[in-house]
Amino acid sequence: MRNFGFSTTKSRTIDYEKIDNRLIRYVLENEPTFNACLSCGSCTAICSAGNLTSFNIRRLSLQIRLGELEHAHEELDKCMLCGKCLLECPRGINTRNVIMLMKKGLYMIEHESKENNDR
Ligand code: SF4
Ligand code: SF4
Repeated sequence: MRNFGFSTTKSRTIDYEKIDNRLIRYVLENEPTFNACLSCGSCTAICSAGNLTSFNIRRLSLQIRLGELEHAHEELDKCMLCGKCLLECPRGINTRNVIMLMKKGLYMIEHESKENNDR
């Protein structure tokens, strides 16, 4: 790699070879429109759950893209599945379906991990 005389600090480095991409891969396979997300935050601004709780769909999406799944379960449970976010998305992404797929994918990953631990 070319040396420009500066670099990112280790803690800010994202190694796409090492992150856990199982959940985002599952979501994108089943809802490819999510690839077009601009991270504009319109879904977050209109979000019913976001008005009542700390839920932030845009932040959650970014965390899942980075493979940070630790708090995903409790965050996803805050969504009311009202569907207001999909009416607002400038890219026409079915965000409600994205949330449903995140829930389903996370359940499958957790179930798979539990089975592996029980062996
Ligand atoms: S479906 Fe969930 S994420 Fe979308 S606006 Fe409703 S509560 Fe927010
Ligand atoms: S409104 Fe659509 S494009 Fe904007 S952050 Fe939400 S999902 Fe992404």
